[in-house]
Amino acid sequence: MRPAKIARAAGTGASVPVECCQICGYEPLENVLSLGYMPPVNQMVKIGEVPHQQPWFPTPLLHCRNCDLVQLGLAVDPVIIFPAEYPYTSGTTKLLRDNFIDLCAESSAMLGLGKDDLVVDIGSNDGTLLSNFQNAGHRVLGIEPTDVGRIAQGRGIPTMQRYFSLDAAREAKRLHGAARVVTAANCFAHIEDVHAIVDGIVDLLAPDGVFISESHYLIPLLDKLQYDTIYHEHLRYYSLTSLKYLLEMHGLEVFHARPIPSHGGSIRVYAARGGTKTVCDSVATMLTAEPKREAMVQRLARFRRDVVLSKLRLISLLRGFKEKGARIAAISAPSRASTLVNYVGLDEGIIDYCCEIAGSLKIGMYMPGTGIPVVEEARLFADQPDCALIFSWHIAEELAPKLRAKGFRGEMITPLPEPRVL
Ligand SMILES: [Zn+2]
Repeated sequence: MRPAKIARAAGTGASVPVECCQICGYEPLENVLSLGYMPPVNQMVKIGEVPHQQPWFPTPLLHCRNCDLVQLGLAVDPVIIFPAEYPYTSGTTKLLRDNFIDLCAESSAMLGLGKDDLVVDIGSNDGTLLSNFQNAGHRVLGIEPTDVGRIAQGRGIPTMQRYFSLDAAREAKRLHGAARVVTAANCFAHIEDVHAIVDGIVDLLAPDGVFISESHYLIPLLDKLQYDTIYHEHLRYYSLTSLKYLLEMHGLEVFHARPIPSHGGSIRVYAARGGTKTVCDSVATMLTAEPKREAMVQRLARFRRDVVLSKLRLISLLRGFKEKGARIAAISAPSRASTLVNYVGLDEGIIDYCCEIAGSLKIGMYMPGTGIPVVEEARLFADQPDCALIFSWHIAEELAPKLRAKGFRGEMITPLPEPRVL
């Protein structure tokens, strides 16, 4: 049964509570954890600007006992969390670029895509994913609500600048025909009325079409204590169990799924109209490994305890450095760093500045909710602070040797899954 009450924040200019499960409509939802009040992660104030009032939103995490979806208890108006000047481009991260090369190669081979087949990407960002399909000779279309879509247009990737909906799907189909593949990479958890999105996807798909989604995966989120990926952009934290439940409500059958490394642990899921594809063993294997119902309730209780302890341990570790008079900088300001900083209570008194690689649109801004300035990475090597806290800790293995090679001599700390000095 579809939810009777959909939390529609779009157009309110504010937020609305999620009153029943966003997938199955079940209520009441159980409270897993609260990370307190958070500012929107992508509304960043320019350095030097006089601080002005900003909205902060509560961050309750809820669990549905019926379909096992873990979800935010609050939907925030997309104009607040995805401002037109949205400072995120997927093309700047090598791991993501490599993942999209892999997604294109894997799906082309598995589905036998032909030259004229249309690939539509929802939340196409700067066109990084579609450029792979385009280079392979396929027709492509991006649908992207933010100005970043213009970067894709500039690269020759046709892009509709609007939010995805059933109407957007119909317009895309009218102009370009039915899609052989629809992809939604890391945005399928973001849109408030998920059923309307899946309706649009089903409408847009050709009879033999395939929907491929990539989302943060709940299991590594729990296992690696990635509470920092919880913020208002992410309304839903999918397991394969809950995602399959959702897709089946729309007649789509999951026929292949596998974990991928993006964003510290994601899941790539292939679905098609029921009975049109052979279901791979990967689906049953992944489903069997996921905790369900009472086991999930217990797993989430353990997660809550570990998150609280990890906050206290990080403060304790940083306190040791500060008592010795150490200067602390931070490395990279991904969206997830906003949750970490605001939940743990880090500010410009503790962290002098945060470094991003040259070209990042975040340079020259304060980290959300704080006065921590984001500066170019060169500052780190000139300045040599005593230690560097790595906010993009999920890629610390790749980052730390690079920082050393470029000449950073201080200590390096990863905040999660366990705060430690490398
Ligand atoms: Zn549910």
